[in-house]
Amino acid sequence: MDFFSSLLMVCMAQGRAKGRAKNNDTGKCFICGGELHAAYKGIKSEGGLYNISFCAGCGLGRTEPFLSDAELQKIYSSSYREEDSKRFIPPLEKAIALLRVQRCRRVERLAEKGRILDIGCGRADFLQLMKERGWDASGLELDRRIEGRGKKLGMDLRCGSLDTVRFPESSFDAVTFWHVFEHIRRPEAALEECGRILKPGGLLVIAVPNTGSLQARISGRHWFHLDPPFHLYHYSAGNLKRLLDRSGFEAASVKHYSLEYNPYGFLQSIFNMPGFRRNLFYDFLRSKKGEGLKSKIGIALMLLSMPVALPLSMALSLAEAAMGLGGTIEVYARKMA
Ligand SMILES: [Zn+2]
Repeated sequence: MDFFSSLLMVCMAQGRAKGRAKNNDTGKCFICGGELHAAYKGIKSEGGLYNISFCAGCGLGRTEPFLSDAELQKIYSSSYREEDSKRFIPPLEKAIALLRVQRCRRVERLAEKGRILDIGCGRADFLQLMKERGWDASGLELDRRIEGRGKKLGMDLRCGSLDTVRFPESSFDAVTFWHVFEHIRRPEAALEECGRILKPGGLLVIAVPNTGSLQARISGRHWFHLDPPFHLYHYSAGNLKRLLDRSGFEAASVKHYSLEYNPYGFLQSIFNMPGFRRNLFYDFLRSKKGEGLKSKIGIALMLLSMPVALPLSMALSLAEAAMGLGGTIEVYARKMA
């Protein structure tokens, strides 16, 4: 732990020094009103260049340019994830399915069994499991094909967002955002709507990447979970709790370890650091072949380093969780009466 504590202090000192060196004001933070300053500039992703600005007050990050819905929709439809296809190679998909069951159990430990709404439900895999466990499951997704899938699965799955779909007041026992909240353009309005549709004492779950994590601090601009331009805002446990508190929710617990997200976040961030194309190995796992000689050499080197890199990433992600600095966090909060 001493080694990690020293490493963290060095990283934090470097971060502060960088913060002082930058002075590009890019607006105000919607959580604390502090100034946003461009910190990571010119990150190449999805054929564009993006900056990440951070708030001097609470550390909230924001992606610049902050793309419009139409611009994002164009990129989503061409590359992000396809409704009918699996994201990863089959053995990984099976492992992820097993982890989803644990996700259901965590919700059930804190919420009364009843009605659940999953925002950005994707292929509705999580909701299918919840339905099998006796929940009345509803979901929102921006892809039109979700409604056909809802009919097939016998669930209330609607195309839209909390801005466009109105559910009855105090009608849900749980509302979940599994790695979706960082994609939301108007987070305060979304939380206000969650407050309206949740029953008093109802459970709100927000799982997001954590900019205060050890992996984020070590890898900086190379951090896998920055994911521009899809992640519009970048949260930490501190600023998210502050936002929830102001929005009428009380954080009950914060989970700092996710086997699904954190070890891989560390691994891919380490792989991004030497200068190969950003997320090259991730694309390779998503069955996209690496193009060009440099990419092929990069993938070969990454595969060769795996006997060391994989256990190291596992160990580092456990260590960061033990320090309360998980690469991604799940915040469980209750609607205050
Ligand atoms: Zn702030």
